[in-house]
Amino acid sequence: YTDSNKRHIAILGSTGSIGTQAIDVVRAHPDQFVVEVLTANSNADLLIQQAELVRPNVVVICDESRYDQVFAALDPLDIKVYAGAASVASVVQMDSIDMVLTAMVGYAGLLPTIRAIEAGKHIALANKETLVVAGELITRLAAEKGVNIYPVDSEHSAIFQCLVGEFHNPIEKIVLTASGGPFRGKDRAFLETVTKAQALKHPNWSMGAKITIDSATLMNKGLEVIEAKWLFGLTPEQIEVIVHPQSIIHSLVQFEDGSMKAQMGLPDMRLPIQFALGYPNRLKSDFPRFDFRQFPSLTFEQPDLETFRNLQLAFDALRQGGNAPCIINAANEVAVDAFLHERLSFLGISDVIAECLATATFVAAPTYDDYVSTDTETRRLASERIKSLV
Ligand code: NAD
Ligand code: MG
Repeated sequence: YTDSNKRHIAILGSTGSIGTQAIDVVRAHPDQFVVEVLTANSNADLLIQQAELVRPNVVVICDESRYDQVFAALDPLDIKVYAGAASVASVVQMDSIDMVLTAMVGYAGLLPTIRAIEAGKHIALANKETLVVAGELITRLAAEKGVNIYPVDSEHSAIFQCLVGEFHNPIEKIVLTASGGPFRGKDRAFLETVTKAQALKHPNWSMGAKITIDSATLMNKGLEVIEAKWLFGLTPEQIEVIVHPQSIIHSLVQFEDGSMKAQMGLPDMRLPIQFALGYPNRLKSDFPRFDFRQFPSLTFEQPDLETFRNLQLAFDALRQGGNAPCIINAANEVAVDAFLHERLSFLGISDVIAECLATATFVAAPTYDDYVSTDTETRRLASERIKSLV
């Protein structure tokens, strides 16, 4: 019996939508993967259940008030239990880990990702906010450390899958596909009145609450445009967005001879998760297969940047560069949280982001400390703005 040919992974955010699907993938391939670490924010019950199944060496529960419960359940199984955000950033450096799957949501992903890269761990990146906030720093650090960043986001995985065997060929442009979300085709008058429950109903994907709202506002696509810039080294002009309501074509690459490659399949995040964890191998799966007869027409339309301002704001921030993407990310996290707590309207989300982008301190060449202070300043500005609106 040997573990040495297997990939040893840490799953950050194991109790979320991506995290639970990653556990499914890992459990379906016990010959390929060993789970070293699981981390969760506050869902102690699920974290304990998962640890009983996959028997990691270490778990971290960020919410320190849940530590005693997790310790009592897992210490008898010889699993080490830690608490707090700082513990996440330190356990990712463990010698036994080969790859870290970043599946926590939001800005909280930044520091553990930096620490993992510094320790030479390859990254399977679901936490797009990390590249939005600090793409320049993260990609430079990864290059220095010889660390690969494998995209988990389905669009970026699609592009990555199209690029395998083509890494020496320059990209002319990429086309990111967007489902359009639950409010595709609606106008601003309709969006004035939409509720949290309506926004949480995504037509094609079942995901965590934050990314589901981001999909309804098209901010998710905006964040993905910025994510794509850093993953594939592109200019804003090389990144196009097209609405494709069926979510079958997951994205496309166009090369300099004009040829386009697309990756397609039913919407199922287990496939991009598995491709990132198993790269360069395609592991056998029993996921449902696509059938053309069930999708006689695949359609495409222009995104409406005037109604869905967040996508335009993300392109603006990308063009401004510096800490502008960090500003829109922080403003968006605060605004989406307020919308989910029914303290802000749907259209108010874009107002808050635009206001923060216009007023937060601009830094052209930010350091890590600048990102931290930009995040703090923007969260304060966004909260003040939201309070003034009610
Ligand atoms: P989710 O809300 O379902 O899960 C989030 C996970 O992160 C949970 O395990 C939670 O315990 C943990 N977490 C939350 N806040 C944390 C904090 N402050 N510190 C540490 N851990 C924390 O979210 P999700 O839908 O799985 O998305 C996770 C990430 O993957 C996001 O960045 C999202 O944009 C990205 N992503 C998700 C999907 C999807 O289909 N769900 C697709 C593409 C990309
Ligand atoms: Mg995506």
